[in-house]
Amino acid sequence: MTDDHDKRTPLIHHPYRAPEGFESPAVPVVKGSTVFFPNVAALRSRTWLDRSAYTYGLHGTPTTFTLEERLATLEGGTHAMLVPSGLAAISLVDMALLAIGDQVLLPDNVYGPNKAFTRHELAAWGIGHAVYDPLQPDTLAAALTPATKLVWLEAPGSVTLEFPDLRTLVATVREHAPQAAIALDNTWGAGLAFDAFELGIDITVHALTKYPSGGGDVLMGSVVCRDDALYRRLALCRSRIGHGVGVDDAAAILRALPSLPLRYAAQDAAGRAFAAWCTTRPEFAQVLHPALPGSPGHVHWRSHCRAAAGLVSVVFDRRFSAQQVDAFVDALRLFRIGWSWGGPVSLAVPYDTKAIRDGRTPYEGTLVRFCLGLESVDDLVADATQALGLLAG
Ligand SMILES: *Cc1c(COP(=O)(O)O)cnc(C)c1O
Repeated sequence: MTDDHDKRTPLIHHPYRAPEGFESPAVPVVKGSTVFFPNVAALRSRTWLDRSAYTYGLHGTPTTFTLEERLATLEGGTHAMLVPSGLAAISLVDMALLAIGDQVLLPDNVYGPNKAFTRHELAAWGIGHAVYDPLQPDTLAAALTPATKLVWLEAPGSVTLEFPDLRTLVATVREHAPQAAIALDNTWGAGLAFDAFELGIDITVHALTKYPSGGGDVLMGSVVCRDDALYRRLALCRSRIGHGVGVDDAAAILRALPSLPLRYAAQDAAGRAFAAWCTTRPEFAQVLHPALPGSPGHVHWRSHCRAAAGLVSVVFDRRFSAQQVDAFVDALRLFRIGWSWGGPVSLAVPYDTKAIRDGRTPYEGTLVRFCLGLESVDDLVADATQALGLLAG
């Protein structure tokens, strides 16, 4: 007999069950590594793959299943998988689809850490790669071989923001390498600017860290596809690798998702206004923003997209040294210096245009990428104006 003052067991095995039927705007945060089964038969027969049952926290909770379903809807796919970061989404696709002797292709303006994972881990595992120029589909055609099992697309390219002709790139892969899967890094479009799956893409990855989080405070990524067999390969690989996400983080994304279209539209408008101002400044030799006429790939952006993210890059005139450009970035007050984007605070980062390409870069000198947050655009323009003023003096 346990005495009445021993609270250990009732604090664990408590008889009270909260009534069902509680509803509020928030998706419940349901935590659990261990999941209880009513009997051994259930333990042996349950499957998490189709999200019809719970087996272990790593494989899904009500909170993560709900977020996955909403993300599949956002991107126009049928299956979504959560992973701990956008980069984990990229490496999951690589690990699920590539084996020794295979080859993967990357656009030269791809998100830098994607190239780094390919060069280091994939190369060490005997997986080859080649880089193509996304604005020259014939360079993709030339790089495809019978060993090509995966082709990455990104629209627009990271940092330099050239928008490729996605339809032609997809058609090129289908014609010359029907065995290859096509994956798109959809972080910039966020499921809002264009419909990746309508273009024939097989897999999208998305850094939920950016716009879906919206707060600059959560790291998470997603992988979305339409094909059931592809989903099985990706999902089983994810479970074997052990990529889980915290439910509090999943709840933070669920809380931010309803305002995603509004924030994206606001940051799109801010990006266009800021880009238009940049074109009036003689310090900038080039303004890169896909919705800006004359920016590389603008015609493709126009034929694919109904919106744009709030990213703008400027190439400084050659008369400014890298040190002067650094001093410009240091002089910014509202724009903070830091990686990532999609949060409330505007950010700026300088890049050496030579260091970010394998092939010949069409740009010279130093580039600064701005990501527009949610501040007043007039205040951001005033901030950039004062920092340019210091540069001249
Ligand atoms: C930020 C980013 C990623 C990686 O996301 P993390 O969550 O920071 O790992 C991947 N692709 C693109 C285009 C990004 O901007």
